[in-house]
Amino acid sequence: MRTWSLSVSLAVALSATCLLGMDRSASSASTALRSADSAFWGTSSVYGNEIIRGVQTDEKLMAFTFDDGPTPDETPPILDLLKQYDAKATFFLLGQRVERFPDVVRREVAEGHELANHTFSHILCTPGTSAEKLRSDISKAQETIAGVTGQKPRLFRPAEGFFNEQLLQFLHAQEMRMILWSKDQDPWDWNRPGVERIVRTILNNASGGDIVLLHDHVHGKSDTIRALAIVLPELKQRGYRLVTVSELLRHQKQGDAASAR
Ligand SMILES: [Zn+2]
Repeated sequence: MRTWSLSVSLAVALSATCLLGMDRSASSASTALRSADSAFWGTSSVYGNEIIRGVQTDEKLMAFTFDDGPTPDETPPILDLLKQYDAKATFFLLGQRVERFPDVVRREVAEGHELANHTFSHILCTPGTSAEKLRSDISKAQETIAGVTGQKPRLFRPAEGFFNEQLLQFLHAQEMRMILWSKDQDPWDWNRPGVERIVRTILNNASGGDIVLLHDHVHGKSDTIRALAIVLPELKQRGYRLVTVSELLRHQKQGDAASAR
């Protein structure tokens, strides 16, 4: 498996293939890369388009993100906890679940959270997927979310982090930005690693500008909600404010990729 040690130039050289935007090994070597190549791990440009994995900021701000929802059983308790600790989050929605559970999405909007596109059907940008099929799946998700909320998301996260040049060009044409996650803020909660591991991953690595990857749809019994009940008060205690991704981007330090708009 390819790791985060890919350089931007190597990524460009691999333009014919989809890239895997995940780090499933979370090694200490990759942690060291953050300071050595902070621009790449923050906002970087590949194929001339932006890929956001966090932002550079001196402020104690973090963005929690939840993929693959909404769900009627996991999303509402997450919303309850976010409300309890004055936290805002970004929900990367699947269009097909928005169709099934529109009221949950309306609650996300009513409580000040950000909606983002995570495709309609969780289609993967892999070599076997036609570009047209991928584009229409993303557009269908946009239309579904707009139909339920009146909002058209400006942020997109590809399923499992796979992307290629064509996808980035399409997003650019749609005026959508691609959001991944900070390399050390992926606790693998979708795999139910235990509450402790999720808590440890987030708290040990917490840093201003982080984008944290979580899920409000987990197969089986989710550990995510119980982990949040520990993580949210602790981050608040440390002085962090949890904001939407768009809000985090507005706090990007000037001069870092000049992209906060
Ligand atoms: Zn997903």
